[in-house]
Amino acid sequence: MTLDVIVVGSCMTDLVSQAPRLPKAGETIHGHKFFIGFGGKGANQCVQAARLGAESAMVCKVGKDFFGDNYIQNFKDSGVHTDFVQQTSDAATGAASIIVNDAGENAIVIVAGANMLLNTEDLKHMQPSLICAKVLVCQLEISAQTSLKALCMARESGVKTIFNPAPAIPFLDAEFYKVSDVFCCNESEAELLTGCPVSSVDEAQRAGQNLLARGCGAVILTLGPQGCLVLQAEGSKHIPTEAVTAVDTTGAGDSFIGALAFYMAYFPKMPLEEMARRANQVAAVSVQTMGTQTSFPFKKDLPAALF
Ligand code: ATP
Repeated sequence: MTLDVIVVGSCMTDLVSQAPRLPKAGETIHGHKFFIGFGGKGANQCVQAARLGAESAMVCKVGKDFFGDNYIQNFKDSGVHTDFVQQTSDAATGAASIIVNDAGENAIVIVAGANMLLNTEDLKHMQPSLICAKVLVCQLEISAQTSLKALCMARESGVKTIFNPAPAIPFLDAEFYKVSDVFCCNESEAELLTGCPVSSVDEAQRAGQNLLARGCGAVILTLGPQGCLVLQAEGSKHIPTEAVTAVDTTGAGDSFIGALAFYMAYFPKMPLEEMARRANQVAAVSVQTMGTQTSFPFKKDLPAALF
């Protein structure tokens, strides 16, 4: 199997109940709608890369349960290779129980479950595929040790790496910077990692330089409706994005990173700024529809100029 993109990361099933208000402790109330969504940063990024046409594989662990089976089917439906998706009886598939009230506020309990059982030994299965793969992507919703090992394995095989330090942790092992060809994070992650405020493009510039100096090949800082900032040794550039009417920005960062992985795999000679400009456009489409993976565009939905 020749792969373009390998994502080592998390799968989460979102169990969403919409209710007039959030229940109090010990209370049972009636809600008006329930739906199941597919999430998890790793899975989201992999699905977006696959929808743009990259041969993409997910390396993850789900439970030997209904949600695990369901998630594997979701990957297949999105064209993601599932050879490295493992099922375990030792924990349930990662789940987020979400209650949303009529004011749009929410209460969420996340149980990472099987995601935290993906260990460095499990990564051996993907080793043969690394020889031909082009890009490997990791985040921090699985054990940091497993993510770091995956990035190191990719580097040793000459595979380009994208590291997304999300959810943010204040103290990140310095090795993560050194094994990241592209270190891609949002404003709050940059703030937590650098201790610098990031509420303007100028401040983002300073935080980005701080991250770049830690040894990564390039830094991309995503800035929501302001697009992103690309920082490399040769200079930095703000890449603005088009103004759109955003209805739900959940997963926008994952859509951006999945698209970036696609461009790095398919157009390795393209300047990083141009890849970021196109990833901005893909993510801008995702914010105009409700949902996370359900809002991620397919190649057929996008202008030919993006390919
Ligand atoms: P999330 O946590 O909601 O998934 P994030 O905080 O990780 O997102 P953002 O920086 O908010 O990431 O957004 C990622 C990218 O999505 C941006 O760089 C931009 O390209 C696009 N984007 C986000 N919000 C908007 C918006 N309102 N309009 C247009 N593009 C947007």
